[in-house]
Amino acid sequence: MARLVLKFGGTSVANVERIRNVARHVKREVDAGHEVAVVVSAMSGVTNQLVAYVKEASELYDPREYDAVVASGEQVTSGLLAIVLQAMGIKARSWQGWQIPLVTNHEHGSARIDSMDGARLIESMSSGEVAVIAGFQGIGPNQRIATLGRGGSDTSAVAVAAAVKADRCDIYTDVDGVYTTDPRIVPKARRLEKVAFEEMLEMASLGAKVLQVRSVELAMVHKVRTFVRSSFDKPEDIDPYGNPPGTLICDEDEIVEQEVVTGIAFSKDEAQISLRHVPDKPGVAAAVFGPLAEAAINVDMIVQIISPDGSSTDITFTVPSADFKRAVDILSKNQDKIGFTTVEGQDDVVKVSVIGMGMRSHAGVAALAFKALAEKSINIRAITTSEIKISVLIDAPYTELAVRTLHSVYGLDKH
Ligand code: ADP
Ligand code: ASP
Ligand code: MG
Repeated sequence: MARLVLKFGGTSVANVERIRNVARHVKREVDAGHEVAVVVSAMSGVTNQLVAYVKEASELYDPREYDAVVASGEQVTSGLLAIVLQAMGIKARSWQGWQIPLVTNHEHGSARIDSMDGARLIESMSSGEVAVIAGFQGIGPNQRIATLGRGGSDTSAVAVAAAVKADRCDIYTDVDGVYTTDPRIVPKARRLEKVAFEEMLEMASLGAKVLQVRSVELAMVHKVRTFVRSSFDKPEDIDPYGNPPGTLICDEDEIVEQEVVTGIAFSKDEAQISLRHVPDKPGVAAAVFGPLAEAAINVDMIVQIISPDGSSTDITFTVPSADFKRAVDILSKNQDKIGFTTVEGQDDVVKVSVIGMGMRSHAGVAALAFKALAEKSINIRAITTSEIKISVLIDAPYTELAVRTLHSVYGLDKH
């Protein structure tokens, strides 16, 4: 007997028929004698609709009330799944974040989990009841409902798995695992059998939305074996060992054959800002980036170009597109202090990244990317690298071409 946490995303619970399909997966595990907790998302499209209602109600809204509204999608699906399971003769009950309790900090809309007590869930599960948990939500300070940021049900699931000491956390979604890149963009993408926590963390942070970044962080810290698989699997889709296809996120040592490059990710959530003719003297970088840091705006890629006579520099950098206007505003207010002539911005840019643990021990990986992109006449606006990734900023219309080119140049295409 094992203790399992199963998480089902929005497409997997999109209507009552699909919820019945989810219930069949749950029944299979219960019949196999396992203790089961299920974490559900809102039906697909529902959270977007709820967010739209909030924005329609007021541009400047109270984030605590935003959370009260958007958390409701998961309340609906948790109740519905419990009802369907009961109708199938399986003992089940729904749990909202506050009932567990899953306690978060004060950052409404994108709250972090402070603590989670698994005792009540364990008690429920060991009495033979399936715990059906509303993902994405918890309880913040002053007993206010809080949500964990978009895609947050993944994080709820891993947090539950850690709190109840589950043997495995299965993330059921609309693809049958983690691929070398988004399979909707590159049909030649390959499913990965295993991905190391560190690589998955990079892939998620660089745009592969199959798992929320924080869920991977939590899985890495608590060593939760996380398996990404499809809720649309049929019983016949099993390998010779009886396992369904999927991707295990695990420790690096469990991966026998490590490729140099594991995957390509891309993020449209970037905006570029350039400051022209900034005086080239000590303290300028601090004057530019200090006020942005104070406003909690994350600066990512930075490029600095010195003028031919060395008197001034152009500084180009990226910020999340959601913070773009705010960043330009802050810089404009500080124009006299910083001393630039103009601030220019562009929202139509994309960051494409190549990720792989094997880069630590292989030279020339970056050079290959630059050559391949040049051959396709794709202009690189900025570059950043770390030990296990290379990112380039390009113009948005070239996204697919760049992703496909890099995917094939690193030998990731399916044969
Ligand atoms: P859910 O609603 O189940 O949480 P998401 O839409 O959040 O599902 O995540 C699944 C989607 O992630 C897939 O449909 C796929 O388009 C996208 N995706 C992006 N990058 C990858 C990748 N490397 N591997 C698999 N899926 C990816
Ligand atoms: N329903 C939430 C969202 O759409 C959380 C999730 O699905 O993970 O972001
Ligand atoms: Mg998701």
